[in-house]
Parts: sequence; structure tokens; C-alpha cells
Amino acid sequence: MDEVHRLYSIYFSRNGAVPPGLELRLDADSSIRTNSTDSRENSQCASAPSHRECSSSWPSSWIRQASLKLFKFYIFGKHSAKGLFIIFWYELSMDPRVRLSPWSPPVKNEVKLSWDEVFLTRQRRIFFIFNHCVSLLGIYYCLTGQVKIATVIWAALLGSLSLIAVTAGAHRLWSHRAYKARWPLRLAMAAFQTVAVQYSVLNWVRDHRVHHKFVDTDADPHNSRRGFFFSHIGWVLVLPHPAVQEKKSRIDTRDVESDWVVAAQYKYYLPLSVLLGYIVPTLVPWYFWSEGLWTSHIVAAQLRHVLTSHGTFLINSAAHMWGTRPYDKNIKPTENMLVSVASMGEGWHNYHHTFPWDYKNAELWDYKVNLATAWVDLFAWLGQVYERKTVSPEMVAKRARRTGDGTHPHHHHGPGVWGWNDDDVPQEDRAITRIIDNKAA
Ligand SMILES: [Zn+2]
Ligand SMILES: [Zn+2]
Repeated sequence: MDEVHRLYSIYFSRNGAVPPGLELRLDADSSIRTNSTDSRENSQCASAPSHRECSSSWPSSWIRQASLKLFKFYIFGKHSAKGLFIIFWYELSMDPRVRLSPWSPPVKNEVKLSWDEVFLTRQRRIFFIFNHCVSLLGIYYCLTGQVKIATVIWAALLGSLSLIAVTAGAHRLWSHRAYKARWPLRLAMAAFQTVAVQYSVLNWVRDHRVHHKFVDTDADPHNSRRGFFFSHIGWVLVLPHPAVQEKKSRIDTRDVESDWVVAAQYKYYLPLSVLLGYIVPTLVPWYFWSEGLWTSHIVAAQLRHVLTSHGTFLINSAAHMWGTRPYDKNIKPTENMLVSVASMGEGWHNYHHTFPWDYKNAELWDYKVNLATAWVDLFAWLGQVYERKTVSPEMVAKRARRTGDGTHPHHHHGPGVWGWNDDDVPQEDRAITRIIDNKAA
């Protein structure tokens, strides 16, 4: 209550309207005290709040409380507004060639940026901040049961189908040419890839081919040597390294450009992604089972988009950092079960970077942790997919023996050898041995 007195005293003294019976006095320690400290008067007020003198000295208690709340709200609002202003000012004015924060070193960039590129980066950052904030609200709605089950199922279905379209379509079909598909399936996958809102197939392919060709170097768009945050999401929020720009302009994507499905999606990408990624997911629950428009938008559009994006992002971050390297220990990509679950089967990433043209993206494991392969096989059975490319187990085993880190499940360590005359010394090892001063020869 002391604080209330203090705030009121300051407020009233500033306005020159000191409440009657209250005399302000500044103490040596700068705290303001009143002269109404007479114990008899105070006890009188406490025992009889309706006492005429007391009630005339101070506004009634609820007004006091309300005013204090208002005052605190004002202070809070002032600071928040200042914070938001700083964030947006920083976002809008910062040179995009400077890295994620003002305290990280700038990258020397000789590539001239167009205003479109600068504006695009700004848009993305503001969009991503907004997207993640409202998604937290979406999680809260789901946890507190403010969403209809049908809406959650709709969001999950849409999320899964769009992830499969990214994995089986944009990735295995268009980026790696691991199999061929007839146009109805290609059209369906391009549509669901648009639902995922991860840029057009052509942009996706360009980024991904450069990623494979120059993996974990400056020319890799999501170079994992620059840390988890950068390879996960940061790379989308800053302009690419000049080496990426340069390699991207040279990578061959003519095969994808000549596909009319990809060309049409590229041409109308902006309206299509807004319609399929945001408007349709919002309207369906509202129209068919009377979900609230706001709830529907937050859960089926915003939250669903954020979660599927992170499923894909994990391949670039976690599956380039944590896990085993049974096929090639000299590269960063790893085998990671969790990423496979999150991305419908893309976590077998050490295998994938070793044999990128294999349509299964993995050597072992079944459909449970590789739903995209189940999808491709299903459509092969339906006659929509043909020419699936894969690598023979012998070839894989040979490669794993040669460059793997020894964690391959079928990896067998042969018996040790004690020396030259041991019968277990492999024939090929004998053949490459040099014998100096060989008397027998
Ligand atoms: Zn990769
Ligand atoms: Zn790939």
C-alpha cells in the first residue's frame, strides 16, 4: 500500500491537487510521507472505513486499485512499444548482408543486391516472427481443448501430405531424379508442395542441388559448419553468401524447368501458396464443421506450416550434426532416426549424400520410418511411378567398408592377423605388399 501512497502523492502533487487533509513532506531519504500518521486517526479509519474524514481524504479503494493497474499498464505498454519499435527498426534498416545479429561479423559481399532481395529478406523475418508467435497460441489452444478434434485431424493430414510432397516430390523426384512420375501424380505433389509453403519447386531444387554439390562449404545455402541455428532456419532469414549466389546461377536445372507442372507452379507461386497454404486450410474447418475462423487459421494454417517447416529444417541441421556415418565418414551428414520420423523418412542422410539418386533415401529400415518410400511404392503399384533407381546391397556394403565409420549394422570385422605368414591375411593385401630384395623373384 506504501507504493500506492507514493504514486498518488506524486500524481496529485504534480497536478497541484493534493487531497484535503494530506500534507506532503519530503524526507531526507527522498521518500514521500504524509502527515496523517496519527495512530488514533489510522485505527479509526481501519475500524470504520466509512468514517467521513477518511473517505474524503482518499478515493475509494477500487478506484485506487484500478488507477494503479492503469498506471502499471501504461508503463508496460510504453516499454513494449519501445521494444517493438527497436525490433522493427532494426529489421527494416539493417544491411541484409550483415549476418544474423549486429555483433556477428559481416560477410564481404561483392554481389550487388536488388531492392527486391532486400525487401524479401525483411518480409521473411517479420513473417517468421509473427508465424512463430501465433503458433505458440495455436499450441495453447490445442492443449486447453479449445480446438475441435476434426480441425486437429485436418491439420495433421494436411501437414503429413505436404511433407510427403516435399520429400517424395520436390526432393527425390525433382531434385534428384531418383524416379519418374506421370503428370497426375506430379500435379498432385506440386499442389501439396505448395501447401507446405517452402518456395516453389524450382527454387527448392536449385537450393538443394547446390547443397549436395557443395555440401558444408560457403557455397552450401545451409552450410552446417555455421552452426545449428543458421543451418536450421537462419539461412532463410539472411541473404545468401556470395558463393551461394554464384553457384546457384550456374547449377543446371533445365530438366526441371522443362516440366510444365513445375513451370506453372513457378509462374503463379505467390497467389497459389497464399490460397493453398493459408486460405483453403483456414476455410475448410470453418465451412464444414463450423470451427471458429480465427482458431482454424491459427491451428490449420499457421501452426501446421511452422511444424512442417521444422520437420524439413531438421534435415539440414540435426541430420548434418548428430548421428552415425556408416557409409561415408568423411562428410558431415548423418543417420538420424528422430529426423526420419519428423520428416517422413529423410533422416538417413549419410546414405542419402553418398547415394543421392536412390529413391528410397535409405538402405535399410522399413516404411514405418520412411513413409515417403511407401508413398512412391504405392504409386508405382498404381502405375503412376516408373524407373525407380536404387543401389545394390553389395555395392553399398563395399562402399561402407571402404569409407564408413564402422557403424553399419552389416559391418563385420574380420579376424585380426598376427603377421605375414598368417593364413587370414587377405589375398588383396598380399598383392599390394612390396617385398624389397626379393630373392625368389
Ligand atoms: Zn544434406
Ligand atoms: Zn537430397
